[in-house]
Amino acid sequence: MKNRLFTALKACLTFARQIGQRYAKAMMGVVAAVLLLSGGAYAVASVVVSLGPDVAHLPIHEVVETVTPLPLEPQAAALDSHHFSLYRSDVSRSTDTADSLLKRLGIDDPAAAAFLRTDSKTQQGLFGRIGRSLKVEVNDANHLLVLSARWSPDDDGNFKRLVIEKKENTFNSRLETAPLAASTRLAGGAIQSSLFAATDEAQVPDAVAIQIAEIFSGDIDFYRDLRRGDRFSVVYETLEGDGEPLRAGRVLSAEFVNGGKSYQAMWFQQPAASAPQPQGEGLATHSLTKGGYYTLEGQSLRRAYLASPLAFSRVTSGFKMRFHPIQKKWAAHLGVDYAAPIGTPVRSVGDGVVEFAGVQNGFGNVIFIKHRNSHTTVYAHLSRIAVKRGQKVSQGQNIGATGATGWATGPHLHYEFRVNGVHQNPLTIARKSESIPVSPSAKPAFMRLASEAQLQLAAAAMLQSGSGQ
Ligand SMILES: [Zn+2]
Repeated sequence: MKNRLFTALKACLTFARQIGQRYAKAMMGVVAAVLLLSGGAYAVASVVVSLGPDVAHLPIHEVVETVTPLPLEPQAAALDSHHFSLYRSDVSRSTDTADSLLKRLGIDDPAAAAFLRTDSKTQQGLFGRIGRSLKVEVNDANHLLVLSARWSPDDDGNFKRLVIEKKENTFNSRLETAPLAASTRLAGGAIQSSLFAATDEAQVPDAVAIQIAEIFSGDIDFYRDLRRGDRFSVVYETLEGDGEPLRAGRVLSAEFVNGGKSYQAMWFQQPAASAPQPQGEGLATHSLTKGGYYTLEGQSLRRAYLASPLAFSRVTSGFKMRFHPIQKKWAAHLGVDYAAPIGTPVRSVGDGVVEFAGVQNGFGNVIFIKHRNSHTTVYAHLSRIAVKRGQKVSQGQNIGATGATGWATGPHLHYEFRVNGVHQNPLTIARKSESIPVSPSAKPAFMRLASEAQLQLAAAAMLQSGSGQ
């Protein structure tokens, strides 16, 4: 820092000298000002030159000021009596007790500990609660002045705030409710090992990572298709209490680059007047239909089939196939295998009717679902079956859980997609299935939002360029 200051000063003086030589008589003044702020945080040097009459002809004023230093003793006393507060923040843990919490927050205050141990609001609102955002204010003796915790238990737009405060040497506590403030966050990242590793690095909450996987679930199988170097950009709502993010809101737009191909999505609610009216509901013309995700060109991302029969989750994303499924006895392996812990929920990839639910050789517990156009999907080796033959199922509906029944050497889901009895690549079918466009009357409003979304996504994509490889 000092070097930089000297360089700035030297530059000033050199410049002043040059100016002086060139305008020897006309130079009125050279001012070099160096401002040192907060111990030399930065320096500003300025040179002011004005061409005027010869400096020798100007009258000279001399200003004399007497400076009397303050006596040392009062200064020392003032320093002694000066107290300051320290602020710290943390997150509550399920194992927190009055003592362990205060210790972690660097507070040494037996009176505060005694209060926390007996206060019922603290017992209910803080201890045994995981992930509550904490802020403390302590004095310079590490005594507690204020401890506050905030969390958002319900999806009602509010958050709770527990405040424990010291007033006139006694503590009191109160529980408040206040509205959450919505703000928009941009984030981006590149996949090195898993989607969650990348979203963690970008400080994107799990709820948002899962939304991204769901939004593109018609195009990308997040279990099997992720590639190193895939990238995501996301713009999402975050709901904050006292400036702390307490709840992840909806993803507003997202881009996922998978294997070099870019997929983009934007949340859009069609005005009811321009969309097909739901039957039997007297919606006012200004009301909105249920929203959904669309490509930026206006095609719905909702497809007839999901790319994967397993919902994306943190538990299964790190679960690797550590075995070879028994394949020798099968003429050919004509399905897709998903390694997953026993009990992982399995979902129907599309609307349909249960054709078979029970035990078959090799398959173990297996479900066959018949969809439109002679499409059939098969879910095998299940530990649990949650549907019955003849039952109607909808897309995404839970139908059972993964297992290792039948000819399986380890827990996994064997999944097949058949068209007229012939095996097909499920992902190809999912991507090919038709999508619904935005209605023509809503298109102008949609396109305005889409161009905004494009800009925001471009900004979000910039955020990942700085991150390490
Ligand atoms: Zn298989």
